[in-house]
Amino acid sequence: MYIMYKTKKIMMKKIVFFCCLLAAITATSCAQQQTQQKFAVTKTDAEWKKQLTPEQYEVARQAGTERPYSGKYVDNHEKGTYYCVCCGVPLFSSETKFESGTGWPSFYEPLSKKYVGERTDNSLGMMRTEVYCTNCGAHLGHVFTEGPQPTGLRYCMHSAAINFKTE
Ligand SMILES: [Zn+2]
Repeated sequence: MYIMYKTKKIMMKKIVFFCCLLAAITATSCAQQQTQQKFAVTKTDAEWKKQLTPEQYEVARQAGTERPYSGKYVDNHEKGTYYCVCCGVPLFSSETKFESGTGWPSFYEPLSKKYVGERTDNSLGMMRTEVYCTNCGAHLGHVFTEGPQPTGLRYCMHSAAINFKTE
């Protein structure tokens, strides 16, 4: 009886060990996936700094946040397209821009999901969905689920991460 109990205990220990191992492997591979994601446009930090203004670099390359109502596109009502400030791919159309009252330019839908990627962001003790450029990895903003119809989504963007051009 005692031996059986002991064997059971060892078995349990083994199971716990393997579960931990599995969790560790999963966590590591996820972390690697984030850092090792390859983008069509890749530049060194020095190159980005040279191309962008300090504010654009801070927001787009360092995942910074611009102060609400400070961005140049919050009240932009012109018709046109918003492009990635880093690599120039089209991201949003003025057709889907709406007044969110948040102080950041907000859209209810991206032009194409091809260039607007989403990934989990657990920074600042919050669980949010970060929006980034799939072509160059630029941080663009976050997406929230209190937007207007037809999508119910609010893509909360940073003016410093996008470039507007009229059609
Ligand atoms: Zn980009």
